[in-house]
Amino acid sequence: MNDASDRLRTIRDAIASAEKLARRPAGEVELVAVSKTRSAEEIERLIAAGQRVFGESRVQEAEEKWPALLAAHPDVRLHCIGRLQSNKAESAVRLFDTIHSLDRPSLLSALAASGEREGRFPRCYVQVNIGEEEQKGGVAIDALPAFLDRVRSSPLPLAGLMAIPPLGVEPSPYFALLAKLARRHDVTGLSMGMSGDFRSAVMLGATAVRVGSALFEE
Ligand SMILES: *Cc1c(COP(=O)(O)O)cnc(C)c1O
Repeated sequence: MNDASDRLRTIRDAIASAEKLARRPAGEVELVAVSKTRSAEEIERLIAAGQRVFGESRVQEAEEKWPALLAAHPDVRLHCIGRLQSNKAESAVRLFDTIHSLDRPSLLSALAASGEREGRFPRCYVQVNIGEEEQKGGVAIDALPAFLDRVRSSPLPLAGLMAIPPLGVEPSPYFALLAKLARRHDVTGLSMGMSGDFRSAVMLGATAVRVGSALFEE
């Protein structure tokens, strides 16, 4: 009984109860099914169960798996959730409808230029280095206002802010901080929360959660 559609229902129910508990409108939170490392067959099972939004971390892996899946399911949308190199901007613009990891001016310029050529501009979340970790991607909190100004004067629609809290510590304070930064800078979307912590992310205002293992593993 623990198949893809059961897991999907369980996650959707958990999101719905967190929305309700937080007195948020039902259906406000977008579930991004993180399909990195998963096979086309596993992805097909979730599509058959009704999931329509997927997230991949690496452009090359997405280029191998997704063109056939997207051709077979034109209403499915693909998001980029991983670190993106500027030299992959062209492929990224072709494949992805939304990018969660915009974090530097050079990538912004590359995406804008590719968007002009391809005639489509992905929505972008600005990734914030919320725990101020050296090794992590994301704009430094101090640099966020200036970077948001640049994104707002670019042709790329601003989807919101995204963050990955530091591992091994309680994530809620980081979710709350990201929500506060979004309010301070008049940004509405918040991409935060993964398999282990999406309920608290929804309680704290997430509008998109990125869930992988809880959807794909028993
Ligand atoms: C892998 C990944 C996820 C999903 O993580 P799970 O714990 O498997 O739900 C979410 N966000 C990002 C950026 C990831 O790389």
